Amino acid sequence: MSLDLIPYDLPLRSPMATSHAIVADRRGALVRLDDHGTIGWGDLCPMPGWSVQEFESLHDQVDMAGLRLDEDMIGDVLDTLVGAPEARAALAGAAADVLAQEAGLSLAAHLAPEPLERVAVNATIGAADVSTALTNVYLAIANGIETIKLKVAHRRVEEDIALVESARRAVGDKVELRLDANGGWRPDEALEILHRLAPLDIAVCEEPTAGIDQIAAVGAESPIPVAVDESARTVDDLRRAIATGTVGAVVIKPQALGGPDFAMQAIAAAHSAGVTPIVTSMIDSAVGVAHAVHVAAASGVTAAHGVATSALLAADVAAPLPVEDGAILVPSIPGLGVRPSAAAR
Ligand SMILES: [Mg+2]
Repeated sequence: MSLDLIPYDLPLRSPMATSHAIVADRRGALVRLDDHGTIGWGDLCPMPGWSVQEFESLHDQVDMAGLRLDEDMIGDVLDTLVGAPEARAALAGAAADVLAQEAGLSLAAHLAPEPLERVAVNATIGAADVSTALTNVYLAIANGIETIKLKVAHRRVEEDIALVESARRAVGDKVELRLDANGGWRPDEALEILHRLAPLDIAVCEEPTAGIDQIAAVGAESPIPVAVDESARTVDDLRRAIATGTVGAVVIKPQALGGPDFAMQAIAAAHSAGVTPIVTSMIDSAVGVAHAVHVAAASGVTAAHGVATSALLAADVAAPLPVEDGAILVPSIPGLGVRPSAAAR
């Protein structure tokens, strides 16, 4: 096996404020794994403000791991990257692409026996201004999206409530509404707001407050199911959140957890406890998004996943999997089904 890293820098269509930083572009690298002529692709795309380690350090760790591939088994090499989840995700993703191709299976079918053929996606509405946010809700519905996630808790409470009420009126009762507070409310505040919003049929609220124990405590009394996202950094964190018995969903980011195999472990833990896994990408390249799509398909969860992030990028390493009628069709050819354009090969 031999490994190459192909760096990229992809501008966003417009800079985006996350809970930690302003993101204007996505710096990353494609991982190209060659196993006797079978080429697998992985994506290294750490998110500033989320990822603990910087891109340069992760890049060098993948590079070093590549040098060991001649002598060591891939599993042993992956073990050296457990402390660098994005680096592990990149190599594990490329290796899974190779193994799936060698087995003649789509990556999703390599990960689970009966994957979904299409993955429903949500639109994420992040605009701070209420009228812009509502316009974006209408646009998403017009494009066939059936699940809308509204970012809340970064404006005044009364504005949040007005937005959610208006959004519910705008979309009718057939569209699923979700909220994501990114840990922005105190626990008591979160409970009061969630009780006020309960009549609006909200499917789930991600991170109503910060911290696994605090979210679980809110979940115990909330009329709206709560989900853990950024408060869980590892599969063990997710297991701990699931074990509280009071979270309704967990957000699974294959890139942040360390790869498709780790993501599938978290998904299995969620399923066994009746908790819904929601798979999301992190504005990674078309290769990384495709990896998340296959994991989402392998989860078997027909509710929407957060993998419609490619439209946020003004350029990409390959044609991203298209979103049509609120869903992404999962490539059925062996492997990942997304190949970087000629320049990157
Ligand atoms: Mg979230």
